[in-house]
Amino acid sequence: SKEFEIYYYDDLMDEESKREIIIRNALLDIVNGNNSDNELYVQYQPIYDLKQNKITGFEALGRLHTKELGNIPPLDFISIAEKTKIIIPIGEIITEKSLKFLSDINNEYPNIGVTINVSAIQMYTSDFVTKLLNIIDKYQVNPKNVGLELTESIIVVDYEQINTHLDCLKEEGIQIYIDDFGTGYSSLAREIELKMDFLKIDKYFIDKLIYRDHDKCITGDIISMAHKLGHQTVAEGVEDKIQLEYLRKNNCDRIQGYYYSKPLSKEDAVKFLIQDKKI
Ligand code: C2E
Ligand code: MG
Ligand code: MG
Ligand code: MG
Repeated sequence: SKEFEIYYYDDLMDEESKREIIIRNALLDIVNGNNSDNELYVQYQPIYDLKQNKITGFEALGRLHTKELGNIPPLDFISIAEKTKIIIPIGEIITEKSLKFLSDINNEYPNIGVTINVSAIQMYTSDFVTKLLNIIDKYQVNPKNVGLELTESIIVVDYEQINTHLDCLKEEGIQIYIDDFGTGYSSLAREIELKMDFLKIDKYFIDKLIYRDHDKCITGDIISMAHKLGHQTVAEGVEDKIQLEYLRKNNCDRIQGYYYSKPLSKEDAVKFLIQDKKI
């Protein structure tokens, strides 16, 4: 029978391909609104401003729980979603949830923002901007409180086109972040000319602040360079007080990491705002 054929084929597959099919099917179920035990939700990691000494926002991080495999790390399910373009509806669901959360918290905290990670494939979809603006309109949030995190990989595709897109988004007041700065393969010259507002310094550089002599660390130079070009900086993956002290001394604008807070459920994110933690 047909069922047998499918099963037989499955059985010959390596574990990795089987896992990929399960994840892809779970994503399909979610996109199609099928009633399954697979769940796509968002966690929010607080971001602390070192100049204002207070929380200024959250990064929205997608989470997938599947019935068969449990929790799937975002880098795994995002890359599978990217292969099949299912990242487009998945990205829309994440954006929708994140902006609903933003609209809920902005009633009490009008200046808190949320940043959303966006894949290159989403960014290059012709109606990306229109769809984003529709969701912003639906939840009546201030576009100034909405940030998009893009990785360096977006530049590789089409540098001119991407800057035109970014201009368009910035005109609406949306904040642009370059994520994981310093780890991509694009040229530094082009990267620093991108029309961004914030540069997020990758954890790779922040980790070095723990075990390397601070005189030999270039994080401070990345911060000065960003400032010269008119960009603010966010340090990623701050886990230790030593890192925090270096970043303060070297004028970093914002920090994010387990030292301040892990990613939180939306309920815990609201409690975190009330608590108003200082570091
Ligand atoms: P990212 O955008 O660079 O997000 C930061 C990652 O670092 C998150 O991992 C966060 O949980 C983790 N992190 C934050 N602080 C610390 C720390 O102090 N120590 C350590 N060890 N880790 C820390 P996560 O949530 O596993 O996400 C991994 C990546 O997956 C993200 O990296 C982003 O590139 C991608 N991703 C997550 N959600 C989405 C999404 O909704 N859409 C897209 N396109 N990509 C997403
Ligand atoms: Mg990010
Ligand atoms: Mg990052
Ligand atoms: Mg990173």
